[in-house]
Amino acid sequence: MQKEVEHMENIYLDNAATTPLRKEALDAMMPYLTGEYANPSSIHPMARTPKDAVKHAREQIANVLNADPSEIFFTSGGTESDNWALISGAKMSVKKGKHIIISSIEHHAITETADYLEKEGFEVTRLGVDEYGRVRIEDLLEAIRDDTVLISVMTANNEIGTVEPIGEIGRIAREKGILFHTDAVQAFCHIPLDVKAMNIDMLSASGHKFGGPKGVGFLYIRKGIRLPPFMHGGEQENGRRAGTTNVPGVVGMGVAAEISSRDLASNMARVTEMRDHYIERVEKEIPYCRLNGHRTERLPGNVNFSFRFVEGESMLMSLGMSGICVSTGSACASGALDPSHVLLAIGLPHEIAHGSIRASISENNTMEQIDRAVDCLKGTVERIRSMSPLYDDFLKQQKV
Ligand SMILES: *Cc1c(COP(=O)(O)O)cnc(C)c1O
Repeated sequence: MQKEVEHMENIYLDNAATTPLRKEALDAMMPYLTGEYANPSSIHPMARTPKDAVKHAREQIANVLNADPSEIFFTSGGTESDNWALISGAKMSVKKGKHIIISSIEHHAITETADYLEKEGFEVTRLGVDEYGRVRIEDLLEAIRDDTVLISVMTANNEIGTVEPIGEIGRIAREKGILFHTDAVQAFCHIPLDVKAMNIDMLSASGHKFGGPKGVGFLYIRKGIRLPPFMHGGEQENGRRAGTTNVPGVVGMGVAAEISSRDLASNMARVTEMRDHYIERVEKEIPYCRLNGHRTERLPGNVNFSFRFVEGESMLMSLGMSGICVSTGSACASGALDPSHVLLAIGLPHEIAHGSIRASISENNTMEQIDRAVDCLKGTVERIRSMSPLYDDFLKQQKV
């Protein structure tokens, strides 16, 4: 048994949790992990190369978003960018008001930061979503008040893959003079984005979600928005984010962004095809399942299904024995016994939310891997259901 497990090929379908580092990114990083170690903020000759490399990476990132390089601020990742945008965005506007709007399906980096702001005296409205996980524009319009200073709605959800109507939300926020932030960690380099066309004021992204390294990300801040610093202690990033620049990280992220955006259309087509094949097979071959999220307004790589009469944790264990690497809800939530706040927000009852499996596909996967994963999923669900007295009762009732 042990031997079999060791020799089995793992199938990685957890790209929403993190992606493998691209080889081109690693190659570009190597010099800055070795000989080119100088601090880009220094003024001696050895600082020149790292300084130029950071400048180039800033241009590579800005290009993907239709932004100006001066609007890109490097951070330690998506969590820091979200914290910075929300906390500093709220604080800079206290004279105007203390009301913030977020969606109820945000990543914990937003929901828990909003909880923190609430304790600090801000008022937070958490917009519900429809059964597909989309924010309703009518709800947003109703929630906006004279003292609303900040709206934060994610571009695409990390658990169910739903893509939000960001362009429309941006247009409303701009019209009303409200700061608009979007957590685009799952969307950046996965679907096309344009900060100008979408009226985005601030946007968070993270290197390790699109083939870059972990521990590096950025916050886009539109020119003219004087967002105060969040990290204090140095003049890096134009005085807005202190701390010695993570040169290898930034360089790797820049290369990953350039290559993934260059190949965006073909990757999207390939990944969407694998996603739709997965969805089609599960719906055809496994009874009593439910696709979570929107059928078309959906990230190319996301599949999230709930299966009745099975528990996500036992499915995860069983699939793991076959080398299938998937997730229940989000990686951050797994391990906790509470069902995902996202699945509850789209109206799933607790017991069904508990039986949910997310697969997140990338261009590194193959159709053969998808088929093997679905085969295993089917076998697992059948096996677990065959041991369930609830399922047995259910089948008996169906026959009556
Ligand atoms: C992964 C993720 C984050 C956190 O990014 P880190 O770089 O890992 O801190 C934030 N928001 C969303 C939607 C994510 O998927």
